[in-house]
Amino acid sequence: MAKNYRSQLVGVFGNPIDENPTGVMEEAAFAKAGLDFRYITMKVEKGNLPAAMQALRVMNFRGINLTIPHKVDAVKLVDELSPEAEIIGAINVVVNNNGRLWGDNTDGKGFLKSLTDSGIDVSGKTVTILGAGGAARAISVECAMKGAAKINIINASEERGKVLADLVSSKTPAKAEYIQWIGKVSIPEQTDILVNATPVGLYPNVDKKPEINYDSVTASMIVCDVIFNDPNTLFLAEADKRGAKTIRGLGMLVNQGAVNFTLWTGVEAPIDVMTETLKKEFNL
Ligand code: NDP
Repeated sequence: MAKNYRSQLVGVFGNPIDENPTGVMEEAAFAKAGLDFRYITMKVEKGNLPAAMQALRVMNFRGINLTIPHKVDAVKLVDELSPEAEIIGAINVVVNNNGRLWGDNTDGKGFLKSLTDSGIDVSGKTVTILGAGGAARAISVECAMKGAAKINIINASEERGKVLADLVSSKTPAKAEYIQWIGKVSIPEQTDILVNATPVGLYPNVDKKPEINYDSVTASMIVCDVIFNDPNTLFLAEADKRGAKTIRGLGMLVNQGAVNFTLWTGVEAPIDVMTETLKKEFNL
């Protein structure tokens, strides 16, 4: 049989993008799995996304990741969407099936995999989320679609918080409530899972934590952070002090990359290699 010299191509479109380490993580996983895939990190400016998406078809890319500023604009440029992406209104991954582009949002799926890997099931649970931006949107919709009973959205901007709570109530089977973030807001006591989905604590601001009443965090809660650099956040340290089980944002980032890996290759991702690679890139 003739030898195949053509690699499968995937990558990421974003701007700024130069410091995004996802490619190193995915390439390490392809090497470990013995797959002839290449992940290319590409700077694509906002107005050029339609041409870049068309290029995926023309150049037979297997798929692509999308990051700032393309996650929302890309929704209109694919042929099909997953049900979650349809509700979230943003995608971070595309699979090219013979010229038909299918888009999904795997930020929430990565988060959920971090929970299930720790033996936590969201069904019937009350999930309280700090923030109402892209990460909060993906996490809340994914939890709601996987059976969470109630989603509380705590956010400073009332408009953004209410829009997200209304979206979850109207488009998913879960109930949702907006809680205004004034001063040191208390976490509702019915909360089973608490998530920081704000950028507070992200490097270099590692000495910052979300302004909440930490004494309202109890030992019965599972407390999660989306911050992955450094993943040992003050937010999680405060929760840990109060006896809560904690889940770090690095797992979510790796798991999101693992879900994308499987969507493109059909193969289970070598999570350990991906985690170790990212830790090295972040000097952890
Ligand atoms: P957005 O800018 O879309 O949203 C940020 C949200 O945080 C907004 O709701 C904003 O409130 C709130 N916020 C910002 N600063 C503060 C503050 N000082 N106090 C209280 N609330 C605040 O960001 P994203 O949702 O895209 O990203 C959030 C974080 O999630 C980032 O750090 C990102 O790196 C991380 N992330 C991690 C992932 C992972 O895999 N681990 C995946 C995706 C994101 P308001 O509406 O009032 O402005």
